[in-house]
Amino acid sequence: MSFSIVTTNWFRVALPLLLLTFIAFGMNNVILLTQSNLGIVSKLPFVLFAITIVLANAFKQSRIAMVACALALSYWVIQNRLQSPLSSGTTILELSLLAALLPIALLFVFTYRDSTLFSRSFGIYLVTLSLFVFWCYLILSHFYDGGFDNIDETFLFVLPEVSKLPFILVVYSLAMVLLFAICVLSKNRIVDVVIYSATLLASTTFVFFHIPHISSTMFSLAGVLLLVYLLSASYELAFTDSLTEIPGRLALESDLKHLGRRYTIAMLDIDHFKSFNDTYGHDTGDEVLKLVASKMSHIGGRARIYRYGGEEFTVLFKGKYADEAQDHLELLRASIENYDMVLRNQDARPKDDKQGSKKRGAKKASDTVNVTISIGVADSSETSKVSEVMKSADDALYKAKKAGRNKVCIA
Ligand code: GH3
Ligand code: MG
Ligand code: MG
Repeated sequence: MSFSIVTTNWFRVALPLLLLTFIAFGMNNVILLTQSNLGIVSKLPFVLFAITIVLANAFKQSRIAMVACALALSYWVIQNRLQSPLSSGTTILELSLLAALLPIALLFVFTYRDSTLFSRSFGIYLVTLSLFVFWCYLILSHFYDGGFDNIDETFLFVLPEVSKLPFILVVYSLAMVLLFAICVLSKNRIVDVVIYSATLLASTTFVFFHIPHISSTMFSLAGVLLLVYLLSASYELAFTDSLTEIPGRLALESDLKHLGRRYTIAMLDIDHFKSFNDTYGHDTGDEVLKLVASKMSHIGGRARIYRYGGEEFTVLFKGKYADEAQDHLELLRASIENYDMVLRNQDARPKDDKQGSKKRGAKKASDTVNVTISIGVADSSETSKVSEVMKSADDALYKAKKAGRNKVCIA
C-alpha cells in the first residue's frame, strides 16, 4: 500500500474538508451529544493531544508533537479565557490574537527536523510558544491600560453577517488555510498535511466561534487526525528509504505481491560506485545516490521506482513488457550519463589528484563528475514467477556490466 488513493495529495486536502461537511450537516446532533457529555467531551481534545505527544516521542515525530502542543495551548486558552460573550472585555481581542498567532506558530514547525521530544529543537519550540503567550500578555495589559484607541473600529472591525471574528482575520485565516493546502498539493509530506488540517480546523473554530461547543468538536477532530497522521507517518517511514526518499525494499516486496500477468522488472546498478566513494568520500557517494533517485523519479511510463539496497535500484512497469519499457530505461540511462554533477563540497574532491583521476576516469572539469548506471531488464512473458523474473533481470544486469557498463541489457 505504498501507493494508494489515501496518500494522494488531493485526497489529503479533501479529507478534513469532507469531515467538516459531515459535521456541519450533523452539528445539531453534535451539540446535543456534547451537552449531555460535557465533562468528557470538553476534556477529549486534551486526552487526544496528550496521547499524540507521547506516541510522537516514541516514533521520533517531534513536529507532530509541536502541532499537538500548539493546539493544546490554543484549546486551553479557548476553554479558560474565551467562554464569556465576545462583546465583553478583552474576549474578542484574545480570540483575535489566537486566530492570528496559531497559524504562525504552526508555520514555525516547518523550520524544524523530526526527532524525539528530548531534543533541543523541541525545547526551542516550547520556548517560542511561551514567548507568544508572553507577548499576548503584554498586548492585553497595554489594552487594559487604555492603549489601542478605536481598535474595535479599525483592526478588529467585525462584519457580523460573515463572522463574529474580525473581518481581516477571516480573510487571513482563509489565506493561511489556502497556503497550507498548496503545500499539501505540491509537496504532500505528512508534516504539510498535519499543519494544513490543524490550521483548517482551528480556523473553522475561530470563524464560527458563536456555534456552541464548536471548539471541543473541532479540536477533538484535530486530535483524531493527528493520531491518524502520526501512524501513517511511521508507516510511510518504514516503506520509504530515508536517504533517497523513494520507496525502499519493503515497498518493493509489498508491491511484488500485487502484480498482474504482464510486468517488467529492471535492476539498476551504479557503475564503479565503490571507487567513487573511495575517491570523493561517502558524503558525495550519498549525493550520487540521491541524484540517481531523483532522475529515476522522472522516468515516466507509469513506472514505480525503489531503492533495492546499497547502490542498486529497481524499476517496476506494471502492464508492460520489456519492449515497451526499454525506451524509458534507455532515456534514464542517458539522462544520468549526460548529467554533470557539481561537487558541492570542495573538501570532498580527491585529496590526491593523481589518485582521483586514476581511480575515476570520468572526472571531467575541475569540480563536476559524471555517473553512469547499468540496467538489466526482464519481463513476465516467459514465466509468471516473480522470483524468476528478478533473477533474469539480475543476470541481464551482470551482462550489461560485462559488456562494458553504462548499458541497458534485456534478458
Ligand atoms: P560495479 O560497476 O561492478 O557495480 O562496481 P561497484 O563499485 O559499483 O560495485 P560494488 O558492489 O563493489 O560496490 C558497491 C559500493 O556501494 C560499496 C559501498 O561502498 C557502496 N555503498 C553501498 N551503500 C551505500 C550508501 O548508502 N552510501 C554510500 N555512499 N555508498 C554506499
Ligand atoms: Mg552493486
Ligand atoms: Mg555498482
